Amino acid sequence: MGNDGGSIPLRRELVKEKTKEEKADQRIQTITLWFYCALSKQPLKEPIVADHGGKLYNRESILEFLLDRKNAYGDADTICPYLKSLKDVKTLKLTRIASNEADKKPNIQHDIEMPTQFICPLTMREMNGRYPFVFLWSCGCVFLEKALAELKSTECPVCNEKFTQSEIVPINPLPEKQKSLIDTWKAQKKSSKRKKSSHSNEKSDSDGKKSSPPPKDKEDSNKRIKKEKPNSSVKINGTSVSRILEKYSTKNSALDGNAAIKGIFIDKSAPATNDSNFICKNTFNRYA
Ligand SMILES: [Zn+2]
Repeated sequence: MGNDGGSIPLRRELVKEKTKEEKADQRIQTITLWFYCALSKQPLKEPIVADHGGKLYNRESILEFLLDRKNAYGDADTICPYLKSLKDVKTLKLTRIASNEADKKPNIQHDIEMPTQFICPLTMREMNGRYPFVFLWSCGCVFLEKALAELKSTECPVCNEKFTQSEIVPINPLPEKQKSLIDTWKAQKKSSKRKKSSHSNEKSDSDGKKSSPPPKDKEDSNKRIKKEKPNSSVKINGTSVSRILEKYSTKNSALDGNAAIKGIFIDKSAPATNDSNFICKNTFNRYA
């Protein structure tokens, strides 16, 4: 190998060593991305979900994170700060490798080696990070990217659900691509939220006008109290309040002598009160 006084190491030999190391690093990275949950760092196990950037997670870890954002996982802020609810991830419909095929595969050979669990249902290609895979946001089905592209279909070949090109999400794309996918999705989410909120504002405005018009004058207020159904079980001097109301609602001046009954009606000489106070003040329950 050189440095023994007799020979000088060749550049080729040194560079070869470096490439091997790089390859090992890359392999570890690939396995981490494709076989482990991005959040919990636990081996992926179904139900598996993916976000709009194609990151894979165990659904369970996402639930834990959503329940306790700050404490569930220390590095969540750098991994998926954009996930706010389960709607922000899609549960994947994966095709398991046939059990007899899986048996043929070597099991965990060393620390970083993982057995392949899933395949493309169209080509039977293994989903292990060596080939680009995609999933459909519309249904969650997972395919080899090339196989789906070659179909040139707008219907999922597994479950027949329709999809658009923008609903094809690459799994574990390059970091730059991942970032741009997340940015695009965040922008879309923001604009649809804005549209929704302006729509609901308009709606609640019109609802408000219909459901609770402000009383225009005292006459209106009188009409409102007549509409309210008095509690017929409440009785004053043996007569039900509803009956007394019926009898005297238009000529409450005749009730001057009875303070209790007088209280039920609006004092026309009193200044107009605001709506909520008005309702509470005149409720019949106060006599029950
Ligand atoms: Zn599908």
